[in-house]
Amino acid sequence: MQTATSLPPVIKINEALCVNCHVCISVCPVKYCNDGSGDFVTINPNTCIGCGKCIEACTHEARTYIDDFQKFVDDLIAGEKIIAVSAPSSAASFPDAHLKLNTFLKELGVAAVFDVSFGAELTVKSYIEHIKNNNPKTVIAQPCPAIVTYIELYKPEL
Ligand code: SF4
Ligand code: SF4
Repeated sequence: MQTATSLPPVIKINEALCVNCHVCISVCPVKYCNDGSGDFVTINPNTCIGCGKCIEACTHEARTYIDDFQKFVDDLIAGEKIIAVSAPSSAASFPDAHLKLNTFLKELGVAAVFDVSFGAELTVKSYIEHIKNNNPKTVIAQPCPAIVTYIELYKPEL
């Protein structure tokens, strides 16, 4: 396994609700990130791929995802310069009003809003350059952060 520098935690555990049943560990595709040796399970964020499988599996509601929305609002109020990157899911969630989301974010104080597809275009350019220059047998084209983190940490040879 590749040693990660510092990944932001995405899953939190409510120690009071955890009954140490280890169901979360049994469903975790990478296992190593969970430590079940104490009174409750803890997660090492540097080896967790953030797939969320354990949240679905925990019937005690001891696992939840970390929501940074309040931190985002606090940083905006504190005057931090923030640039938003709007995902295609915003168009799916607000089918007739997704452009209003950009206006809403600007009104909140966000400095600029970019569309994720802009990053996708840059990525495609990089793929094409890599294919032209290196003639690889296979290219894995994958935007899912859990799969990307899994490959970076556990299958770097891919
Ligand atoms: S499945 Fe939930 S209750 Fe069971 S050990 Fe994991 S976090 Fe704790
Ligand atoms: S988010 Fe995925 S990788 Fe991380 S602890 Fe849960 S099941 Fe394991």
